[in-house]
Amino acid sequence: MNAQIKLLIELQGMDKAIIEKNSFIEQAPKRIQEGEKSSRGARELMESVRKEHDSLLKQKRDMDSELEQMNQKIAKLKARTSDIKTNKEYQAHLKEIEAAEKEVFRYEDGILGLMEKIEASDRNLKTAAAASKEEEAKAEVVKKKLEGESGESRKELSVLMQKRADFAGKIETDVYELYMNLLEKHGGIAIARVRHEICGGCNMKIMPQLFVHVKETDEIYQCPQCDRILYYEEEAAEEPA
Ligand SMILES: [Zn+2]
Repeated sequence: MNAQIKLLIELQGMDKAIIEKNSFIEQAPKRIQEGEKSSRGARELMESVRKEHDSLLKQKRDMDSELEQMNQKIAKLKARTSDIKTNKEYQAHLKEIEAAEKEVFRYEDGILGLMEKIEASDRNLKTAAAASKEEEAKAEVVKKKLEGESGESRKELSVLMQKRADFAGKIETDVYELYMNLLEKHGGIAIARVRHEICGGCNMKIMPQLFVHVKETDEIYQCPQCDRILYYEEEAAEEPA
């Protein structure tokens, strides 16, 4: 195999690692934001459930106080009973008490209904609060983990970049330029292994003659379809044909 191609294979390995580390570092803030977004969503849901719960509690307090007033009104009416002189007045008085007592029943029913709603809403609130707490903790774990890993990746990347810069100096300028152009053109893969007359870069078949050239000569050949630099490596014995 061409000595330059041997170097390129090693360089491609480094570039693959560099690209992966860069991509990880770039993606980390987005992944942290996704976790925070989901935590924010759970908190907003909990806040809306809490608002509803508070509103039910207020409705109940209002009804309790209206009920209390109505009971006081009935007590006052009953206290006045002994002052009543005529039967007509007495009948009217009884009707007033009866109407007030009906109101009391109405409030009591309303309060019972509200208590059921409050119980259900209390359960919803507890569930939403637990979910919000869980999402928040999860987002925090993801954030800490990714920030740590990102920091590590940055360090590894800087070592790798230095190693690559030193290594690239060994490669002939024109070969290196060709490689770099292809690397850019093909999103990070500039060289391709040929197996069974198929380019590993674009998966297209190459001419048998070209395959023989790649396999048996020391020249640099490119894939006619994707332009990647082609190389041949002996198949390991156990590999299926
Ligand atoms: Zn190809």
